[in-house]
Amino acid sequence: MPDGGSDCCGTCTFNKANRDKSHEPFCEVRNFEIEDPYWTYCNNHPRRNPLLVRTPRGPVWTAIFAELDSKPLSEELQIPHKLLPPKGDAMYVRVPFCGGIRPYQDRAEVCTICGEKCEYTISVEPSNQDKKFFCSTAHYFEWWLDFCPEATIYRGEKPINADSLKKTLEEISKSLSDAEAELRTKGDKQLIVELLLKVDDLLFDLGYGGVDLIHAAIYTENPELNEGFSPFMLRLQIDLSRAGNLLQQDILDIEGVLICVYDIQDVLKKISSK
Ligand SMILES: [Zn+2]
Repeated sequence: MPDGGSDCCGTCTFNKANRDKSHEPFCEVRNFEIEDPYWTYCNNHPRRNPLLVRTPRGPVWTAIFAELDSKPLSEELQIPHKLLPPKGDAMYVRVPFCGGIRPYQDRAEVCTICGEKCEYTISVEPSNQDKKFFCSTAHYFEWWLDFCPEATIYRGEKPINADSLKKTLEEISKSLSDAEAELRTKGDKQLIVELLLKVDDLLFDLGYGGVDLIHAAIYTENPELNEGFSPFMLRLQIDLSRAGNLLQQDILDIEGVLICVYDIQDVLKKISSK
């Protein structure tokens, strides 16, 4: 496995080639041929997508040397949480594609943003445009937010505020109780699925989406290894993942799903009361 991280298209459920070896690597979520699946990542990978959502979650990312992660992001820049890169291996950082084009590590050049001449750069050559070079991932990202088609839907997006968070949490908690009753009495899972998707979405809005589920499990069992993730958010991720797994089985384990739902309700209540 290349050491850019095993949470790549090479191991993803949504890569057609992983189900049928006669196929070329092809992403069924975003409908594109994956040129380099072991160096391509996104937040739809099952390791970061407990309910296996098929709607694209943020851009597609590649991995480059961590040395290029050398500058801080400008303080004025508000990065929507959905654009947080899937965290990779320590030797590499992840940067998003631009107009479907992969950025690369490149030769000595002058940075498009700050004008600094650097020995190594990140470059990208969007179609019908000159090749651009950047000194650091921060300056690449700054430019990316302003000019890349993938960033359009996120521009101007404001982080969720405390009031609307509280309101959303209350709505979800209340609806979860109704949905739980539907599941318990009629075995109807539709409402539960919809609500779990809302919880999943909320985690993303809060910046806790896309946590690697393997890491979440390790941190939950060994809290001393946790590098600052909220234990509540990790619990939600794991509940979502367990419930998601159970809900996809042909024979529905209602009790199993309910245990996850009760725990989710408990966590939501604790977050609301903070
Ligand atoms: Zn620069």
